[in-house]
Amino acid sequence: MSQNIIRDDAALSIEKSVEGRRAIRFNKVEDKSLSLDIPDNLLRKTKPLLPQLSELDAVRHFTRLSRRSFSLDTHFYPLGSCTMKYNPKINEDISMFEGFANLHPLAMDLSAQGTLEMLYDTEKILCEICGMDAMTLQPAAGAHSEFTGALIAKAYFEKKGESQRTEIIVPDSAHGTNPATAVMLGFKTINIKSTSGGQIDLNALKAALSDKTAILMLTVPNTLGIFEFEIEEINRLAHEAGALVYMDGANFNALMGIIKPGNFGIDIMHLNMHKTFSTPHGGGGPGAGAIGVNKLLEEFLPYPRIIEETGKFKIKEDYPRSIGKIKAYFGNTGVLLKTYAYLLMHSKETLGEIARNAIINANYLLKKLKKNYPAYCEDYCMHECVLTPGKDLLANKVRTLDIGKRLLDYGFHAPTVYFPLIVHEAIMIEPTETESKETMDLFIEAMEKIFQEGKINPELVKNAPHTLCVKRLDEVAAARKPDINWENSSAIEKFGSKTADKLETSLSDSKTL
Ligand SMILES: *Cc1c(COP(=O)(O)O)cnc(C)c1O
Repeated sequence: MSQNIIRDDAALSIEKSVEGRRAIRFNKVEDKSLSLDIPDNLLRKTKPLLPQLSELDAVRHFTRLSRRSFSLDTHFYPLGSCTMKYNPKINEDISMFEGFANLHPLAMDLSAQGTLEMLYDTEKILCEICGMDAMTLQPAAGAHSEFTGALIAKAYFEKKGESQRTEIIVPDSAHGTNPATAVMLGFKTINIKSTSGGQIDLNALKAALSDKTAILMLTVPNTLGIFEFEIEEINRLAHEAGALVYMDGANFNALMGIIKPGNFGIDIMHLNMHKTFSTPHGGGGPGAGAIGVNKLLEEFLPYPRIIEETGKFKIKEDYPRSIGKIKAYFGNTGVLLKTYAYLLMHSKETLGEIARNAIINANYLLKKLKKNYPAYCEDYCMHECVLTPGKDLLANKVRTLDIGKRLLDYGFHAPTVYFPLIVHEAIMIEPTETESKETMDLFIEAMEKIFQEGKINPELVKNAPHTLCVKRLDEVAAARKPDINWENSSAIEKFGSKTADKLETSLSDSKTL
């Protein structure tokens, strides 16, 4: 890994370590009462190998490093299926309001009225938007929501005396977490193929449904960026077979304010606050999920729940049929507070506008790019489109990975690559509603340039990026053995040349120093 890094100024500045150089030093106070009784054998015998720098050198080092990262605040970030939209910064401030952020998780109901009301209202508003009867905001993420929803379905069938329902039907266009959830809960997954238009094949569905089916798990819009036009018929068929229909609504930013899933027969659905409601997915921080259910399933929701009695909000734990607790306290309330603030900023109309603009933007990119990058579904898409490199580029062995890397040179974060799995060499682009036409036009221009380069000078694309300090990493090793150490000549002297393996040894050595 490290051999790929060009040693520019940022790296060099930290190697400017000079014995004794440092930032501010407070005067030493000899106070015996402060000394800790640390046994001798646990005390460090040698100084730690840290660079010794002035404050200015250290600040410059980290500022330079931070500028090398691609982020939502600096670059267009068209990561399909991850919804990296720009969310109002003010909600970050609101999520840190002291009254919420400093509340003790075990505070009594009466001293937590504000937080309880906020969570209660958020549940109610999201129920209204989704057309569901009840909701829990406790799941920590989308996959955790699926787990919670499937547990609820399981409890429902146990109560009904239909424990033979052990199968979950998952179309091949579903998000990967769907079958994974099913398996984690001991269900058998039945995979059904999509039609060439990216829709569920109704005949395949009919053949798969039986009195063993517990859940039909649909991702809407699916991972091809397509809406199931036959959704009402699909739901009717599933219900006729006695199954429940689960909707993975992680990407509800394509639908909110336009349709209400509860109205067309969805029994259970989940939302991702990180994607749709004011937290970017993959933002590095916590997210939050939610599970909405219809009346029949409400009694199985996880506890504790919040109820309102004569204007006061209370925590209630007594739900005999509940699936139990699924997360400590009330989930990630800081994220939910951002959701609440976001919901209060909007109305039914503006939420619908967000969804429509997300769809219009994705379709704009689809129309402009599909000539050179053939789309899986040519005609339309929802909030994201799935393209491919096409035969011209593939003939020159220019692949999706190369296009993603070359986009970095043009100042764009790469789209999602090689997902969904059912599309060969998939390039999945989600512009979101927050990008301007001007930004998208620049992106289109870059994609067109890359297409020309790939035809005329494929090596240029295949060896990209050319302008960044980090070239093509061994991505597995970068994740499993991250190289995060400062290195200077005395360290090299001590530990020898630094390969990832040696680094590991040196790290374990340093523990014994
Ligand atoms: C992102 C996503 C998930 C998983 O959400 P996490 O919060 O990452 O667990 C599930 N389904 C779909 C359709 C998604 O886009």
